[in-house]
Amino acid sequence: MSEDREKNGDTEQPKTPTETPSTSEKDDGYEKVCFMCRRPESKAGKMITLPGGFHICTECMQKSFDTMNNGSMNYGDMLSNMPNISMVDLSGLQNQVPKKQRVKKKEEKKEPEKEFSIKDVPPPHVIKSRLDEYVIGQEHAKKVMAVAVYNHYKRVFAPAADDVEIQKSNMLMIGPTGSGKTYLVQTLARLLDVPLAITDATSLTEAGYIGDDIESVVSKLLAAADNDVERAEHGIIFIDEIDKIAKKKNTNQRDVSGEAVQQGMLKLLEGSDIEVPVGANSKNAMVPLTTVNTRNILFICGGAFPDLPDIIKERLNKQASIGFQADLKDKYDEDKDILSKVTLEDLRVFGMVPEFLGRLPIVFTLQPLTEDMLVEILKEPKNAILKQYKKLLEMDEVKLEFEDDALRVIARRALEKDTGARALRAIIEEFMLDIMYEIPKDDSIGEVLITKEYVEHTGGPKILLRGQEIPLLESGN
Ligand code: ADP
Repeated sequence: MSEDREKNGDTEQPKTPTETPSTSEKDDGYEKVCFMCRRPESKAGKMITLPGGFHICTECMQKSFDTMNNGSMNYGDMLSNMPNISMVDLSGLQNQVPKKQRVKKKEEKKEPEKEFSIKDVPPPHVIKSRLDEYVIGQEHAKKVMAVAVYNHYKRVFAPAADDVEIQKSNMLMIGPTGSGKTYLVQTLARLLDVPLAITDATSLTEAGYIGDDIESVVSKLLAAADNDVERAEHGIIFIDEIDKIAKKKNTNQRDVSGEAVQQGMLKLLEGSDIEVPVGANSKNAMVPLTTVNTRNILFICGGAFPDLPDIIKERLNKQASIGFQADLKDKYDEDKDILSKVTLEDLRVFGMVPEFLGRLPIVFTLQPLTEDMLVEILKEPKNAILKQYKKLLEMDEVKLEFEDDALRVIARRALEKDTGARALRAIIEEFMLDIMYEIPKDDSIGEVLITKEYVEHTGGPKILLRGQEIPLLESGN
């Protein structure tokens, strides 16, 4: 019955003045529930609001009237069956309508997303300042990226029939592990609100061999764009560990995961129509295919290129030892920022194919993180690890502080691991575990100061009880 009613639509019912919600009635996101049959508005149809804030569905209302007109019923039955307004003490109903029986309204369908346009892309200085909020250091990399991304989207939205064709700004990022390559790209995609797919080049092989097809990177992007082809076509694909697909040296076998992958990626980087499965990452007869054009997809490749510093040094040392400008032979051995002197020739020697490099016109390097940078990473970014811990303890009304010296010890320990900022979280988690476990046990604790000794396992943290007057930081330093 109620189903029929739903299908027929209650709009056919004549409207009574009580049906129109009063303007003062606020939509609190909950459905009205009939106080008789307990069905929500979505099931029972329009509700009539009675004085006292109760609702009754038109069906129950009708039933009440029918019962009233049916003379065969005795008075007692009538009372139990028809809570007509005149017969029911409405003030007593307050207790009968269970509060918990509120039914949340279904979320309204989201409006179709508006098209991405050049107006959605902030100018380079704004992109850089937003990156600054999250990524510490790497000034050069942030600047190059901001300009390249801005130009990329200018090219995407440039009028088609223009005589000057702007080259694609695909990028090659070179930087040590944990220096922020992936993080930069993630932050960039988030601030531009474009879909991002991250793939590891090591998993890619030439089509037909064990491993992922090169085209699978595009289906990942399509998935990241919720299968919206148009959104995917403006997205970013980040291919990490690109140095692992360098040409293999001294091999007679077919190089299916090295040079062949580079060759296979050429068309993708440049722009071509790729048939990708929708909702799966491998093509098979059961999965529908769709075509994604990669012309406007921004490709960013990243890698640590471990032997590259040696190649650069060798070239520089060779240059330095020839001719009149003969220099010290080992001048570059101690150069920490040797990567920034990379040339395309060095990358070719490393094993990257010239055609491949030709399709990644923007090449830039990231600096290895220093102790100072690591300390900053701990506390400065918007989502810095320390800020996260502080917030967690704030919820227990406990203030958390860190001694500067403690942070230095953490940074130094991370440096030793040689995995950049990646090591920081693991180190902090190790000693914060006890804090996060013990502190909520004791309500009287008001402040915790993480000391150098605690991080070095030679002492404990300083604990200040609520109401204690000695300022904690003074005793710490
Ligand atoms: P990789 O260069 O190996 O791709 P990631 O970008 O994955 O390194 O860095 C690992 C983590 O370290 C990031 O998630 C981020 O939290 C942190 N991180 C690395 N570099 C920076 C940086 N320059 N600024 C802020 N956080 C960073």
